[in-house]
Order: sequence, then C-alpha cells, then structure tokens
Amino acid sequence: MSAYNPYDNVLATIETAAKQLGYSPSEYEHIKYPERTLQVSIPVRMDDGSVRVFEGYRVQHSTLRGPSKGGIRYHQDVNQDEVSALAAWMTFKCAVAGIPYGGGKGGVTVDPTKLSKGELKRLTEVFTERISPIIGPETDIPAPDVGTGGEVMNWLVETYSRLRGELTLGVTTGKPVGKGGSLGRVEATGRGVTITAKAAMQALGREIRGATVAVQGMGNVGGISAKLLTEERAKVIAVSDVSDCIYNPAGLDIEGLLTFIADGNLLKDYTGDVERISSKELLEMDVDILVPAALENMINKDNAANIRAKLIVEGANGPVTVEADAVLEQNGIIVVPDILANCGGVVCSYFEWLQNLADDYWTEQAVNQKLEEAVSAAFKSVWEISAEQNVSLRAGAYLIALKKLVEESA
Ligand code: GLU
Repeated sequence: MSAYNPYDNVLATIETAAKQLGYSPSEYEHIKYPERTLQVSIPVRMDDGSVRVFEGYRVQHSTLRGPSKGGIRYHQDVNQDEVSALAAWMTFKCAVAGIPYGGGKGGVTVDPTKLSKGELKRLTEVFTERISPIIGPETDIPAPDVGTGGEVMNWLVETYSRLRGELTLGVTTGKPVGKGGSLGRVEATGRGVTITAKAAMQALGREIRGATVAVQGMGNVGGISAKLLTEERAKVIAVSDVSDCIYNPAGLDIEGLLTFIADGNLLKDYTGDVERISSKELLEMDVDILVPAALENMINKDNAANIRAKLIVEGANGPVTVEADAVLEQNGIIVVPDILANCGGVVCSYFEWLQNLADDYWTEQAVNQKLEEAVSAAFKSVWEISAEQNVSLRAGAYLIALKKLVEESA
C-alpha cells in the first residue's frame, strides 16, 4: 500500500475541476506546483543547555490573487508534502472566500506539548528569522494553525519587527487582541463552520435545531464549533481530543468541557456523565452532522463506507480523502468541503490585516457581521454552482476557485 500523500489529493481535485471547466493543461499546469518552497533548519537551545535542531518549512503555493496567506503548524508529523498540500488548499480557500490572497503554509516538525514555553519561544524566533526573507505584509502572511496560536504569532511579530527595524503588525494574523489582533478572530473558524453547517441544513430542508452532532477534535476549531452549534440548539452528543472520545446521547455539557480543556486538561481525565467510545465509533456514529476538526486523512477508503452521518462539515483541512469522497457521494452524504467550511478563519485574518494596515479597529459585532456575510455569500455561490452542474459541493467550490485562478489572474 502506498503511503498517504495529501498532495495527491490536491492534484486529483485540481484535475477534476480543470476537466469539468474544459481547460487544456497549458492553462492550469502551473497551479499544480507550489511557487516557492523554503526548507529551514531550526537550532534551538533547550532548557537543559543542549541544542536540538528542528526541521521547518514555508511553502508559497500561489501569489496569483495576492500575497500568499496561511497558517503555521507545529506538529510532530509535519512534512513537506503536508505543508505543500495545506498551502494549496489555502489558495483555493482564499479564492472561494473571495479575499485577495494567494495561499501558503508553514510548519515545524515538533510536538509543541513536549517543549517548555521558553523553548517554544526560541524555536519560533529562529524559525521566523529563517523564513523572514520571504514573509511580510505584502508578500506572505502567516497565521495560527494546529499547535500554534496568538502567543506564537506575537513572538513572530516581535522577531520580524526587530529584524526589519519597525513594528510590522501586518506580517501575521491571529495575534492576541491588544497586540494587533482582531476581535472575533479566535472564534472565526468555528463560527464559519457553524454558519456553513446551518446554511447546508437549511438548503437540505432540515433544521439545525435539534440536529445531532459529533465533533472530532476539541482544539480551536472543534471546540468553538461545538459551542456555537450548541448555541444554535443543535445537540452535540460526541466529541474527542487526542486522548479520548466521549459520548452522551442526551447531549454533552460543552461549556463545562471547554472550561475543563482551557484549564489544560485532556478528555481522558474528564469525570462528567459520559460514555467512553473509540474514535472509529465517533466517526461512524449515526448523527445528522459530523464535524471532523482534527487532521487530514481521517475519513479515507478504509472507513468511508461505514460513515453514517448525513452531513459532514470539514472543520479540519483535508479530513476526507478523494477516494472517500467518491464513496460518500455514492451514499448520498453531503460534504461541506474544508475550503468553504473552515474559511471563516482566514476571512477574519483578512479583516485583521485590513485593521492593522489602516490602524483602525472594528467592534466584535462588526467583525462577526462581515464574517457572516462573507461566509454566507461563499456558501451560496458554491451551493448554486453545485446544483447547476450537478456536482458535489467540493467540486463546485473548486470550479469557482480554479476559474478565478485561471481566468481572472492571468
Ligand atoms: N490556519 C487557518 C486555515 O487553515 C487560518 C489561516 C489564516 O488565517 O491565514 O485556514
């Protein structure tokens, strides 16, 4: 069995969309390759005095529609193919969301939970220094992703600004509020997931109220999605983190769980009224809505046929493989694709960047309202083209994105 390579998913999806649009290879061949890849080594002085060298990447997939844009991931499984795939997905995500960016991504092969705060800060400083020749507010703008957040973004701004000799808030987004960050940014990805889940249910003639939900991953995306879906009166009955999966058919206490997690706890130590289930059981649960909000390749050719959710809303990037997509489609399961479902994060990043450049800060209400407008408009256009062309929502989203990349940015 060949190893899973997420970039193969990217290529297959581009090919399908290009064929549907009737493009000849000469029109889209360039989009299959990242424009620029920088691999760096990151020597870090550890707390015990030793030096460990980590591996890092910054991939700029496309600048056809604007500066490349996308997060930085700290995870032990990060590799170049993964970062390249994540960068490409950002290109299509920004295009479908209608924001003037290309796509990029960064990553460091490190388990951030095993490093002290000082070690993480030094790692971020060296990584920033080494990618600094290619990042900047007008060229390539990082943001948080799995394993990073506001604090890492703040270290990045400090390091970049020191190197450049002036405070440069626009070099990254997802900064803490008060340090150039935007109100609503932390919640924005989960908010976008909720907006698209609600819109999809509505389009299917169903209600979000009372719908049962399973969420894989209780990080920033899964956690906020669970919270906001609960506020919409959906019933979140199963959630998971890296340590465990929990289930309560009557609905979980999401507020309580989020406080428990925010205190640094793992689900395996949660003592609430829940049943323990396996991650297979969570993914294959008979729910109205499944939100995979962890990592890539979670729904693949091995388990796709067992999926019973009626609607999948991809909080994570690339959780469903191309092979799985075909099986789900055959089984009538609707998938709101990552580049649409989780675009709320980067849309709000765009708002943050605008606020930084103008030095004019918006209220949370204004941010949320603009976010709702942008994500709803993106959903509507994807839904319409998918219905019109009789293709999946993923195919529809790629038709829109590829068309913009090929026809509007020659
Ligand atoms: N990492 C997020 C994503 O995958 C956000 C990227 C950004 O805000 O630039 O969409």
